[in-house]
Amino acid sequence: MAHAHRVVVIGSGFAGLFATRRLRHAPVDITVIDRTTHHLFQPLLYQVATGILSEGDVAPAIRDVLRRQDNARVLLGEVFDIDLEARTVTSRMLDDQTTVSYDTLIVATGAAQSYFGHDEFARHAPGLKSIDDALEVRGRIFGAFEMAELETDPGRREAWLTFALVGAGPTGVEMAGQIAELSRQSLRGRYTNIDTTSARILLLDGAPRILPAFDERLSKRVADHLRGMGVEIHTGATVVDVDDDSVEIQHQSGDRSRVATKTKVWTAGVQASSLGRLLAEKTGAELTKSGQVKVLPDCTLPGHPEVFVVGDLMSLNSLPGLAEVAIQSGLHAAAVIKRRLAGDLTRDATQERFRYIDLGTLAAISRYYAVGQRGRAQVWGLLGWLIWLAVHLVFLTGFKNRLLALVSWIVTFFGRTRYERTITLRQVTARRALEGSDGQTDGRRTPCCQARNSTTFAVPRALRLAA
Ligand SMILES: Cc1cc2nc3c(=O)[nH]c(=O)nc-3n(C[C@H](O)[C@H](O)[C@H](O)COP(=O)(O)OP(=O)(O)OC[C@H]3O[C@@H](n4cnc5c(N)ncnc54)[C@H](O)[C@@H]3O)c2cc1C
Repeated sequence: MAHAHRVVVIGSGFAGLFATRRLRHAPVDITVIDRTTHHLFQPLLYQVATGILSEGDVAPAIRDVLRRQDNARVLLGEVFDIDLEARTVTSRMLDDQTTVSYDTLIVATGAAQSYFGHDEFARHAPGLKSIDDALEVRGRIFGAFEMAELETDPGRREAWLTFALVGAGPTGVEMAGQIAELSRQSLRGRYTNIDTTSARILLLDGAPRILPAFDERLSKRVADHLRGMGVEIHTGATVVDVDDDSVEIQHQSGDRSRVATKTKVWTAGVQASSLGRLLAEKTGAELTKSGQVKVLPDCTLPGHPEVFVVGDLMSLNSLPGLAEVAIQSGLHAAAVIKRRLAGDLTRDATQERFRYIDLGTLAAISRYYAVGQRGRAQVWGLLGWLIWLAVHLVFLTGFKNRLLALVSWIVTFFGRTRYERTITLRQVTARRALEGSDGQTDGRRTPCCQARNSTTFAVPRALRLAA
């Protein structure tokens, strides 16, 4: 008996999920493979890192999201091989290795943080790409205030109260705004020995202005707004070294300076998933500098019409790495698969071209202040923030997640507090533990997992280990 057309989707991010859902009523058997168990709404990771949302709010289980889709199954595994001749995908999880056959393959594995050849910076300056990253950053930020409270040396205390955001794109700018609100409002008066409002927040970027993807006028508005909140903006300032206690900055003049800071977050640069390199090695496909696969206008791999590369991993017409590009390219791949299965071969091949509709971009800087642009139209301030709120409520996956996020936003924006402040020793030291250099992350000695709205006393020890 002939089997149904087998579609394998690698990655349950925006591109993979939207492609899968669009194939819901198609005569296909879909296998979604991801190395995590969730669909992650990356644009709100910064709110997990700064105590507004819980990790569950932005990362529903992919099995739950697809529970009503009978033609889709979910596999946990990290894909490490794609055999384009045999049409199989092989993944592993712990000691288990799984090989799955496909008739059509959708590769949607996104991108990771790039440290521009300095991966050693990652242990001192985590990025913000995963739930692990967000919880580690949360641990470092809230832990820094705890350590500052204990510190008696003024210089070291200042270093604990200095936060450096490397990269002034939307994520860096949003993080700067949130840490400013935290220190000036949410944590104000919570400590005995420190004045949290004296915290220094540095936003560092080698580019001449912040938010380079936005119009210059919006970028200036945001810079003025952030300065008003107490953020120090240093443009033309390239971070050339990072260690436990400081960052070294190279200024446009060529001069270098070092700033003492215990808490660094890296939001500059992306590197496409390594499956891009794998596909390029096997097919000779071209890659961009950041490792994206140059695809044909219909989002397929050159020479392989049965393989789609979509989302952040795809390079086409210089489209930016945005959720909306990922969603639309995933939907496009699904639409082409459906047309092919329907035997709709009379269409002109140009109809298979992916056409991106720009719906605009938004960045929320602080409560009641966001900026956005679509084409030449621009919004900022309260109106921008209301649009930001509506868009994120619509796009968050799942009714429960929307509801929980809305409640958390009401509490945070009207109550000026942060309820998701739980941090644990393991979160803060995880990166070291993974590197095998920290033998002390023994859970039995970890007084972790406090209730909502609490800080944990594991932090001082954790940060000593991390520092
Ligand atoms: C902090 C942050 C803020 C952002 N803010 C915005 C914003 O405000 N607006 C906007 O439009 N965009 C924003 N973006 C960009 C947007 O999130 C991405 O463009 C989008 O997530 C890309 O979707 P994707 O499906 O291509 O990849 P992803 O969403 O990254 O999904 C890739 C999936 O593949 C899985 N995977 C990777 N490698 C493997 C493997 N080898 N085997 C199995 N699974 C694998 C991953 O676990 C992941 O689930 C932001 C991104 C970040 C990191």
